[in-house]
Amino acid sequence: MKKSLVLVINCGSSSLKFSLMEPNSGEEVFNGIAQCLLLNNASISFKMNGEKQELSLKAPFDHDVAISALVAFINNNHLFHQITAIGHRVVHGGEKYCHPTLITPKVKQQVHKLAKLAPLHNPANLVGIEAAEKVFGHLAQVAIFDTAFHQTMPEKAYIYGLPYSLYKEHGIRRYGFHGTSHYFVAKQASIHLNKPLEQCNLISAHLGNGCSISVIADGKSVDTSLGFTPLEGVVMGTRSGDVDPGIIFYLVNQLGYSLDQVDNLLNKESGLLGISGLSNDCRTIEAELLSGNVRAKLAIDVFCYRIAKKIASFSASLQTLDGLIFTGGIGENSSTIRGLILNQLSLLGFTVDEQLNLEKRFGQQGNINSTNSRACWVIPTNEEWVIAEQTQRLLTSIGE
Ligand code: ADP
Repeated sequence: MKKSLVLVINCGSSSLKFSLMEPNSGEEVFNGIAQCLLLNNASISFKMNGEKQELSLKAPFDHDVAISALVAFINNNHLFHQITAIGHRVVHGGEKYCHPTLITPKVKQQVHKLAKLAPLHNPANLVGIEAAEKVFGHLAQVAIFDTAFHQTMPEKAYIYGLPYSLYKEHGIRRYGFHGTSHYFVAKQASIHLNKPLEQCNLISAHLGNGCSISVIADGKSVDTSLGFTPLEGVVMGTRSGDVDPGIIFYLVNQLGYSLDQVDNLLNKESGLLGISGLSNDCRTIEAELLSGNVRAKLAIDVFCYRIAKKIASFSASLQTLDGLIFTGGIGENSSTIRGLILNQLSLLGFTVDEQLNLEKRFGQQGNINSTNSRACWVIPTNEEWVIAEQTQRLLTSIGE
């Protein structure tokens, strides 16, 4: 039977992830990723019906070549005519975009303008949009912004303790990221709670290479740990999270760092990698922890303590708390990290069920709290499904 499918595209500077989906059920027809773009070892892989296929890409190894290979795969599988729209992940929508948005030349201009707030991401997202427009020009293209879900934060949560003019004149405020993921897992939690999302009060911890904690009151984001950039908040894989800004002056004035070196240090050499001196990969650090490596232990202790502290501090944003959600590569798979975080949150009424916690990995969803505890779930995120579903919903509402 002919289906209506949405192609979801998440384009980075050297990668392009894609997923073809049935937007109502979230059923995925295939997914894949083009990697090492702009390098001569660029490749593309497709996963369909459990089988993986990998191909080398041809010169000039760019996003257009990746999209052409994707279209060839779509045609070979006779799927082209079933695609009804393209949904793009766009990282920064600033204050302007708080809803799914039909992409027009004006919207592209705005996304380009917002690149000053997300210089690594928005230009790459635009490259993906333009590459897709060349071959899917007959279809509507929709932008789903990673910042959109957090646009409901109140002023007191997004204003920094800086001169107000910096916000008014230059947009320097907290925006937050990972919004699509926090929205998805909150919606899933509302199903566990058997009540509408609009009545749910939750804290969600998205723990992957990038990490963020969000607090959701009556279904809306009211605070989140990532800020003006994805550097603020808890300790991440290679990012420092919150540090005393005075350290930057010390690095520059006393230790002779250039600003580029500070940027690199805080974004790429810190976090789990910087503390452990081993890796940003949580699996490696956990393995070293088991063999008694003290720096691995320190990295995990700092990581978990900072997250527990952030979760506890976010309880100040809520009148009531229905539960806590873990998601992202670490949140979905690491019982060690989840257990260490929950053990520091007993004052909030959390206690972990060791067996349930151990069982939750590789995409399993459900509670990990003990019977007398406040609810805590592991919920695998699915940003692609949100993008497909919101794309379809927008197009239906405007009669496309
Ligand atoms: P990204 O932010 O790049 O999307 P992911 O959400 O894929 O990242 O998460 C990547 C992180 O998840 C890595 O630190 C990886 O070590 C961790 N991870 C994946 N599987 C496991 C596991 N079984 N145990 C512990 N950590 C895991």
